[in-house]
Amino acid sequence: MAKDHFKCLRCSNTYELEADPDGKLKERICPKCKSNSVRKLKAQ
Ligand SMILES: [Zn+2]
Repeated sequence: MAKDHFKCLRCSNTYELEADPDGKLKERICPKCKSNSVRKLKAQ
């Protein structure tokens, strides 16, 4: 299963989630600080 990588712009926490099969962009919440200022990173 592909993973998408995200980085929180508030606390710089990085984390990954399973990629959405439908490719829709959803609002992300940082699991560490609960900020929604999260940027999707390019897959590695
Ligand atoms: Zn955060």
